[in-house]
Amino acid sequence: MQKRIWQWTGLNEVTSGAAEREQPDQGEAEIRIASIGICGTDLHIMSGHAGFGEPPLPLGHELAGVVERIGPGVDGWAPGDRVCIDPLIGCGVCRECLNGNKHRCARSGEIGLHFPGGWQEYLVVPAANLYRLPDAVSFEEATQAETLHCCLGGIDKLDIRLGCHAAVIGDGPTGLYYVQLLKAAGASKVSLFGMREGRLELGRRLGADVTVNLRSADTASDATAPETQDIAIDAAGNEASLKLGIELLKRGGQLLLFGLPGHPIQADIQSVVLKELTLAGSTNAPQVWPRVLELMASGGVRVKPLITQRYPFEELDKAIAFARSEPDEAVKIIVSHSQVLGGTELP
Ligand SMILES: [Zn+2]
Ligand SMILES: [Zn+2]
Repeated sequence: MQKRIWQWTGLNEVTSGAAEREQPDQGEAEIRIASIGICGTDLHIMSGHAGFGEPPLPLGHELAGVVERIGPGVDGWAPGDRVCIDPLIGCGVCRECLNGNKHRCARSGEIGLHFPGGWQEYLVVPAANLYRLPDAVSFEEATQAETLHCCLGGIDKLDIRLGCHAAVIGDGPTGLYYVQLLKAAGASKVSLFGMREGRLELGRRLGADVTVNLRSADTASDATAPETQDIAIDAAGNEASLKLGIELLKRGGQLLLFGLPGHPIQADIQSVVLKELTLAGSTNAPQVWPRVLELMASGGVRVKPLITQRYPFEELDKAIAFARSEPDEAVKIIVSHSQVLGGTELP
């Protein structure tokens, strides 16, 4: 049996084709992919600068679909179950894996980054990486559980008190999720710092109390005043955003480092020490997936307003091209198979 597939085949190049469907082995399930989120990481990998992944490779790590077949020894799943996929696979036997921190496993890798991902009709994955979708969560929304789980893991590293003031620096999807998570966590005033007016406007719709356009910011305004924030989240990951985060924090404040600079950057450590700031880095958080789905189902975090473009699977190349050429307009692009786009969700 054949399946349709898109692969990253070279510098910024995607190619469609067909491949043989695999049989799910012990502990595995075959998923019929319904929706795929296009992520900045996909573009980064395709540019050849990510330092991992080798073409030809189907990318796609923000995935939702339906269980199609299960392999031997799989309990609790049946064909037709709606799922999202945790793309992270650890070795399963090292100290970090046994402690539930497979993202820290030295031998871990991710579906769609290091291993074949969901740019295809069917994908075989370990059944242990599946999470059941609540009825209230659509496939399109469920693709964002992957991004949201990283953000929620970051929130869990902070001591957030009701009524605190928090700043989010960076107006990409993760910044927009952080705005919502901080409000849900009890921050009374969340300020979003970014560079794109459309996204700042979206941030206000999603709960930001204050937005600051750093391209045209009045540096003397209240929002940019130093030592005004209890929490700062750097969702941009560059020297300027780090500097701003350190400046904005009150003494004793907490800075979450989330955006990736990609290379070493300078930081004002003198201020970090003298202001007694706490710095925390955060990536994946395998433990928080069930709570992410609770948050999505209850409306505590909204995903739909971030979805700016939808493409059919047959036009995945066009989705990638749009993401690359219109980064300001494309907040979150979702590629879906026809059953989803037709309005009648699988199964
Ligand atoms: Zn992603
Ligand atoms: Zn391990």
